[in-house]
Amino acid sequence: MLRLSRFSFGVGDRFAHQASAQLKAFQRLLSEGVEVVPVWNKSNREHSFIGSQPESVRQAAQEAVAQSGWSLPWHTDADHIRLETVDRFLDSSDFYTIDVADSIGQVASRDSVVHFLKSHPELFGQLHIQGIDQAIFLSGDALEEIVAKYLVACQEAGRIYRYISNKLGEGNFIAEVSMDETDSPQTPQELLVILAALADQKVRLQTIAPKFTGRFNKGVDYVGDLEQFAREFQDDLCVLAHAVTQYGLPDNLKLSVHSGSDKFSIYPIIRQAIASRKAGLHIKTAGTTWLEELIGLAESGQEGTTLVREIYGLALEQIGALTEPYASVIDIRMSELPSLLTVGSWDGHQWANTLRHIPGHPQYNASVRQLLHVSFKLAAKKGSRYTDLLVAHREIIGKNVFENLYTRHMKPLFLG
Ligand SMILES: [Zn+2]
Repeated sequence: MLRLSRFSFGVGDRFAHQASAQLKAFQRLLSEGVEVVPVWNKSNREHSFIGSQPESVRQAAQEAVAQSGWSLPWHTDADHIRLETVDRFLDSSDFYTIDVADSIGQVASRDSVVHFLKSHPELFGQLHIQGIDQAIFLSGDALEEIVAKYLVACQEAGRIYRYISNKLGEGNFIAEVSMDETDSPQTPQELLVILAALADQKVRLQTIAPKFTGRFNKGVDYVGDLEQFAREFQDDLCVLAHAVTQYGLPDNLKLSVHSGSDKFSIYPIIRQAIASRKAGLHIKTAGTTWLEELIGLAESGQEGTTLVREIYGLALEQIGALTEPYASVIDIRMSELPSLLTVGSWDGHQWANTLRHIPGHPQYNASVRQLLHVSFKLAAKKGSRYTDLLVAHREIIGKNVFENLYTRHMKPLFLG
């Protein structure tokens, strides 16, 4: 069976030019004694915005792996796929993030709910889960409510999983089930019921991405109650360990955090929790590598800075259309966005300082960063003018890509 390592880290590479620089961060971490496996992720939505094919992700990764002599596993993730979008990924992905968030809350048939409740008497009443101080208590009504809310989503995960299995052969791919792109977070109790239902569906998932409490906006820090997150995260780890034994799920089953990148304030919490429970972790970052390309271009000189300014100008014009698909994962304050006139006098350093996520830096601007993060489509439209500059300035861009991944993400998550 294709098995996902204990620690894995999802990176995005929208324009398929930074795999080598990203891989350097993993190699550096390995030289510090921590094995973390790279997973290149790109969703169907990102492919369609850019006009790229999933094969390009695999190819770029494979080239980087060959050049650098990386000898540990690596994967390419068909990110947030559904039954209607999975096909184009089947030739080039070995990791499937099966997204069933849209099916949450759909009404399950009475028969299937009754059948579930009958076959899971262990979920009624008081439940002692190792590591969770207070026993979980689920009344009949509470359990039925959870089942009614999540059963259809779990059945759908089963359908997609079987579809991929039929095409690739079970054991030849890594399955993740994701429920993060929805409004309300899942409690540890809900997670337990979900895992039981996924086991019933014979989904051999190796990671699961619940929606955690708090806000996980793209490219900026976590917003929420840190203590509550810590409690919930630890309880989730215990629920997963329990479900592995109780329901015979793969023993490497781990949490996947769709972080949206840059969740600096929860990294120490995550590190301590996985260390104390000896748990695994998959952390998925958003395609913020593309912001490092902009930062590197700004630092590369006049031509790069001009292009960054141009893209920002277009982004301001098209802000409605660009931000609409990401409404639930960005918080841009219009009043914080400088006008085109204002940025006309900015040099490359000011652009770099504005975009680079150094919390507390006087020039850092989270609104500009988020706007440009969702504006990669505009760079794609620049075609070779953009990608030629990526090639010409690959050194300074690569330095930024590496530094960002290694120093700001990997070190606090895996080394402390
Ligand atoms: Zn996600």
